[in-house]
Amino acid sequence: MSDHQFSPESLMMSFGYKPELSEGAIKAPIFQTSTFVFKTAEEGKAFFELAYGIRAKEQDEQLGLIYSRINNPNLEILENRLCLWDKADDCAVFESGMSAISTVLLEFLSPGDLLLFSSPVYGGTDHFIHSFLKKIGVDAVSFYPGQKESEIREIIENTGKAHKLAMIYAETPANPTNDITDIEMCRRIADSYSTEEKRVTVAIDNTYMGPLWSHPLLIGADLVIYSATKYIGGHSDLIAGAVLGNSQVMQRVKVLRTFLGNMASPNTCWLLTRSLETLKVRMEQQAKNADIVAKMLENHPKVEKVHYLGLLKETDSDYELYKKQYTSPGAMISFDIKGGESQSFQFLNQLKLFKMAVSLGSTESLAQHPASMTHIGVDPAERLKMGITDKLVRLSIGVENSEDIIWDIQQALDKVS
Ligand SMILES: *Cc1c(COP(=O)(O)O)cnc(C)c1O
Repeated sequence: MSDHQFSPESLMMSFGYKPELSEGAIKAPIFQTSTFVFKTAEEGKAFFELAYGIRAKEQDEQLGLIYSRINNPNLEILENRLCLWDKADDCAVFESGMSAISTVLLEFLSPGDLLLFSSPVYGGTDHFIHSFLKKIGVDAVSFYPGQKESEIREIIENTGKAHKLAMIYAETPANPTNDITDIEMCRRIADSYSTEEKRVTVAIDNTYMGPLWSHPLLIGADLVIYSATKYIGGHSDLIAGAVLGNSQVMQRVKVLRTFLGNMASPNTCWLLTRSLETLKVRMEQQAKNADIVAKMLENHPKVEKVHYLGLLKETDSDYELYKKQYTSPGAMISFDIKGGESQSFQFLNQLKLFKMAVSLGSTESLAQHPASMTHIGVDPAERLKMGITDKLVRLSIGVENSEDIIWDIQQALDKVS
């Protein structure tokens, strides 16, 4: 039995932490310290050489503790545990999902480069691409759900700077519509524009499905990104982000993080390690509840359409990709209510158990109206093209008793005129 491999959920309570280094404490203390004492000057030098990327790690060499902007025990324990879910070499945790995303975009794109991205993406990502990246001379073009590989290749060619393609960035499933993008296709396109000097990077925002139900690194992604504020944190009590990938790409991400200084604090990391212990039970309960809710909504007379992967039929064009790329339909549901903004608002205002708030993936159920809230900053014509209309309501399903969740949705729908 010595070769038995524990599952990630079994290792979330202990992996990467040695109680004997902390007075036997079963849980890691919060290492509220800015700096760490070197044993010798030679050790300090060796640590800095690694941290600054001056030389490669020797076999089995670990980066020692230097300064809490570079590393900290709470940060390292959390990063090591996150690696287990995605089978990644390395992980970097950030103070927000947006700092994880912006650091990746800044590290892997240079002025003059072309970025191809899936649409819709998270509102903050959309803003960063259209305003900040544009300002530093990075061109960006997007593709839409349902577009074929040949059409996407045409979009790249039509820019006239296909040779400058440096990154494909996809958010899948997309917030808030649950549209999905084929990650293996992204890899194929990226490979066909890669040269010996330049590998086109594939980065996937896996916030909706990860780290449980999809593992983009195993199917061609170079980087997987999370808003750890959502399922990973899971209790609506912190903001954080994470990036995972192989050692080479993560070395670049971590060096830029060191100089931007946007790592997560020891306290946030400690909260996240606590969250990871229940990640699987939370997400499984949320998905179970979501399945019940989606089936109820599908048959409700006041609902026009439900956007939820679990309702795809074998004849739907995305069904095969959904089955190939995901092991669960997740716990995010959007639906079109019959009517428009007025009916959406009546529904939202009547909810009693659901909290009306943005964010997602938390233990409590949340509801919001993307067109007037999370996605209000998106160009209105673009918004319609993405299916974000006035009748779209987004639900993040929590861990409450499913009968209570159903009761709440039904009583709120009953009051919609
Ligand atoms: C919330 C979210 C982000 C941004 O993360 P923050 O932690 O709020 O900075 C990025 N992508 C997706 C899909 C999100 O839902």
